[in-house]
Amino acid sequence: MICRVITDISLDREFDYLVPPELESSLAVGMAVDVPFGRSMRNGYIVSTDVQSSVDAKKLKPLAGVKNQSCHIPENLIRLGQWMAQYYCCSYEHAIRTLLPAAVRSGRVRPKMRKVYSISNREKADELLCAPESERTRGRTAILRALASAPEPLDIEQLRLIDGFSESSLKTLTRNLILVCHEEEISRRKAPVEMAKSVPPQMMPEQKKALGVFEDMLCGREARRTMLLHGVTNSGKTEVYMQMIDRVIAAGKSAIVLVPEISLTPQTVRRFRARFGDTLSVLHSRLTDTERFEEWNRINRNEVKIAIGARSALFAPFRDLGVIIVDEEHESSYKQSESPRYVARDVAVMRGQFENCCVVLGSATPCAESSYNAQQGKFVLVEMRNQVASKPHPHITILDRRLDPAPAPGENRVFSPVLIEAVRRKVENAEQCILFLNRRGYARNLTCSECGYEACCPDCSVPGTGHSTPFMYSRSKATLNCHLCGRTEPAPEVCPDCKSPNIRFSGTGTEKLESISRGAFPFARVGRMDSDSMRSAEDYERVLEQFRRGELDILIGTQMIAKGLHFPNVTLVGIVNADLGLMIPDFRASEKVFQLITQVAGRAGRGDHPGEVIIQTSNPGNDTIDYAANFDFEGFRNFDLEFRKLLNYPPFSRMILLNFRGESESAVADYAQKTYDLLLPYIHDDVSMVPPCPAPIERIKGKFRYQILIKGNKLKTLREAVRILILHRNAPANIEFYADVDPQSLL
Ligand code: ADP
Ligand code: ZN
Ligand code: ZN
Repeated sequence: MICRVITDISLDREFDYLVPPELESSLAVGMAVDVPFGRSMRNGYIVSTDVQSSVDAKKLKPLAGVKNQSCHIPENLIRLGQWMAQYYCCSYEHAIRTLLPAAVRSGRVRPKMRKVYSISNREKADELLCAPESERTRGRTAILRALASAPEPLDIEQLRLIDGFSESSLKTLTRNLILVCHEEEISRRKAPVEMAKSVPPQMMPEQKKALGVFEDMLCGREARRTMLLHGVTNSGKTEVYMQMIDRVIAAGKSAIVLVPEISLTPQTVRRFRARFGDTLSVLHSRLTDTERFEEWNRINRNEVKIAIGARSALFAPFRDLGVIIVDEEHESSYKQSESPRYVARDVAVMRGQFENCCVVLGSATPCAESSYNAQQGKFVLVEMRNQVASKPHPHITILDRRLDPAPAPGENRVFSPVLIEAVRRKVENAEQCILFLNRRGYARNLTCSECGYEACCPDCSVPGTGHSTPFMYSRSKATLNCHLCGRTEPAPEVCPDCKSPNIRFSGTGTEKLESISRGAFPFARVGRMDSDSMRSAEDYERVLEQFRRGELDILIGTQMIAKGLHFPNVTLVGIVNADLGLMIPDFRASEKVFQLITQVAGRAGRGDHPGEVIIQTSNPGNDTIDYAANFDFEGFRNFDLEFRKLLNYPPFSRMILLNFRGESESAVADYAQKTYDLLLPYIHDDVSMVPPCPAPIERIKGKFRYQILIKGNKLKTLREAVRILILHRNAPANIEFYADVDPQSLL
């Protein structure tokens, strides 16, 4: 017998090997093997058994050995990897590599220790547990209660899943010697922790309908296997997901749940854990190699039935999948930014086909591609238009900034008087506000009012103009930062050109918004949340906890605070500058703005008091803002699809963006032109190819960037040609050349 193997050398080639007779009966696709290669030994994976080789059998070498079961990839995943390699124009080896966590691939995992916590002073613990609970002791009692009922010590990850957990409560308990922390070997984690499981509620009519459709899909009464679950925020989608999984498990199958960014969705993960306990594997980025290895093997050994995690959880090695659920399917974090540049939503649909399992894409604002597939009848569309606890929409005001009274000299006009007044009313009423601004840092730029000098990153350029990127100024560290390459420099105190002290900032970021807010709302307690102020998951939890406890009146933040947070006492959301996202030269810009406004607005009025949203803009009458303010998803979707159809953008076409990078502009331009010429013969009536031109951001980190945009349908042969050019023709050493298939940004 002869088998075909993908090795770990990126040659984009499969090799044939002889199978020693004693292995013939046990050999299967996906097994990890050792193969002789040249004079060395390599790792590989079987991609087919029993092949007819075109190579003379006498020249073939035999397999050197089969590795143990723990790194055997399911056959369907191997097929998925091969498809990804072809579709996303990357090498086979690279695609197979993404299916496996590094820890599993390398096979070099040492047992690691973990810290676990248990109660050391029962008496004191009972005392605390019996005392009447107050806001102050809530975190501590929650931790003690969980530990008291757990059959064995809990580690920090398990503790974090407790509702009400906070790091500070844990510290206090340890410091007061009520808890003790000790180390044990990770693999001891095996004994399942039995926790009380949450009980599913009685379903609402729309939820019942969604489940009914899912059951039809699961048992084959509905021939299509992909569902778009379009449900407004709070319509009970998460509950529906969990009951779908119940059905799947009852049918003896398993489930994958993808969430956009696991660190930003602790509440969702907590709910899954509470419902499914230890049959659930949580795959998040803070796992150590050993833990990841363990989780992968738990799935591979069929010890768990459900995996939840970000993008890469899609490759969990289940062999009997019943459903793949993609929550918030419109999120841009589902696109991987390095090779293979896949979109997890699309690969999920593809894996669904290989596995013949159901795929459920859920969102309150589905992306254009999914909406279109549903319109075309490719996906089953299920809509949930009502919230579980029906609440009126928040009241939305669009504020035209151009009508504001002129500011007094020296007065800052980031907030219109209307917004300031609204915040004052809320704070006086002991209600809370969220102020949203999608720009980090202190100020967008630093300029000299004497000579016009502007502080810029020497290595990067602004979209569209080829000028250098203005540095963002961070006052807390007094540094200038480039948001494209991360370059950081100390901020000058006087103009480096004319030595004038009149250097000014313009373009407010969240950091400056925070300090302006302290001036504008002296009566309020202000907190901020963005990727600069949040160094760790603990920072994040701490600020949220403060806000939840009512120790802050105003929370300022970037899109970090737009998603999924539930604060019943927030009754006002101010969108400080709705125009920021509209200025980006990308055909998805309005979709992103619509989604963002919808999400942020959804943070207001989740409790008993009605919510209010104030949108500050200098573009009143902008269609996107109007649709969002009227909660008119259908209206926006039709408007957006019409625009895309007119310009033949996805979903009406597919895109492949070819990228060229290098330090010499002429070399980059030359090579791009050469590639363009080579691809020209593959262009047909359904495809257009824009000749090479500088990317909207022409330079990053000192490298010039050129692109070729391919757009159209029936791209198969062209895609193959691109693949061969990238993988089998060597680009000059000083030039990077790669394809971004289905690019999510054209910058
Ligand atoms: P979504 O995921 O669509 O935002 P969730 O599933 O989070 O909605 O539901 C919103 C809230 O309503 C949650 O607090 C959830 O526990 C609750 N909920 C969901 N379904 C029901 C139901 N059938 N009965 C009562 N409460 C429900
Ligand atoms: Zn100057
Ligand atoms: Zn830069």
